[in-house]
Amino acid sequence: MKNNKNLRLWLDDFNLSHPLVIAGPCSAETEDQMLNIANQLKDTDVSVFRAGIWKPRTRPGMFEGVGAIGLKWLKRVKDETGLLTSTEVANANHVNLALENDVDILWIGARSAVSPFIVQEIADSLRGTDKIVLLKNPVNPDLSLWFGGVERLYSADIKKIGVIHRGFSTSSKSKFRNNPEWQIAIEFQNKFPDIPLICDPSHICGRRDLIHDVSQKSLDLNFDGLMIETHVDPDSAWSDAAQQITPSTLIQLMKELKIRRGNFQEEDYIKKLSKYRAKIDMIDNDLVEILGKRMNLSDKIGKLKKDKNVAVLQSKRWNEILGKMILEGKDNGLSEEFVLQIFKAIHQESINHQNKILKN
Ligand code: PEP
Ligand code: MN
Repeated sequence: MKNNKNLRLWLDDFNLSHPLVIAGPCSAETEDQMLNIANQLKDTDVSVFRAGIWKPRTRPGMFEGVGAIGLKWLKRVKDETGLLTSTEVANANHVNLALENDVDILWIGARSAVSPFIVQEIADSLRGTDKIVLLKNPVNPDLSLWFGGVERLYSADIKKIGVIHRGFSTSSKSKFRNNPEWQIAIEFQNKFPDIPLICDPSHICGRRDLIHDVSQKSLDLNFDGLMIETHVDPDSAWSDAAQQITPSTLIQLMKELKIRRGNFQEEDYIKKLSKYRAKIDMIDNDLVEILGKRMNLSDKIGKLKKDKNVAVLQSKRWNEILGKMILEGKDNGLSEEFVLQIFKAIHQESINHQNKILKN
């Protein structure tokens, strides 16, 4: 399924000159609330209306969604505004009800995406339909679990697939509700460049003041769309109140966001780009060559250690190297985090080399 251009076709069918925008409340609350929001979103950049009907909540006793009655309200939204509709499904029964009620796009939530059983059940119940199915990343930062979910959908002959990056849960405190871990989304894009990738800044941020920056960052990384929770009275929302924005804030946000080109075919730009890239390629070659030389020396040290029966790991020496390189890095405009990552990787490779020598 890699590099399968057909996977992009559903998005191309929208024929948009801007990212695909999916907006609407976290939860369907009442028919009036839905129509009120939808009416403010029609004739804007928004193409798809979202609303959760069945809500996965961390603790029981919180508002768990209005249930199947909400599907009728979604139908009214579609008939009265022309917006496409979407909702979250978490089992075969949800899928069947959503199909019967003509929902256009189904998404699989982050708590369902962690379970191969649930994803498989949903995939099987969708076999043979031509619905657009969006798979959120699993709550835990496990890229292969996310890949696995996509593969299950694809194997069930679902061709209109997209994914939603909604951040990952961590035990450490940060300003985000769910850590973005952009690297994981980038790796996803590298493996499946033709699967449309949508950012959900609402669930990444958990608070509305961060939504602008996270949305812009996703566009800078060439995401294909945004899913943003939108409510006429965010503070009174029945779920996720702190992260929802009003339709007028969303419209303003869409005006402010800078939409990056996927590419640019201008002669001068291409010339300059190729020149810099040629230099980068040369430096990359030098880097690998020099790392090879470093490992050669490390092998020699490994042989010495073996002869004299000395342990591979020498923490004192290693800490001295790290301290020196962090300072050196600073002088060269490199962050401490980056220098640490690089040197940890180099050190690990060095240890692997020496362990092999000691074993032989
Ligand atoms: C949602 O979109 O309202 C939702 C429950 O999101 P997630 O599955 O990302 O937590
Ligand atoms: Mn929500």
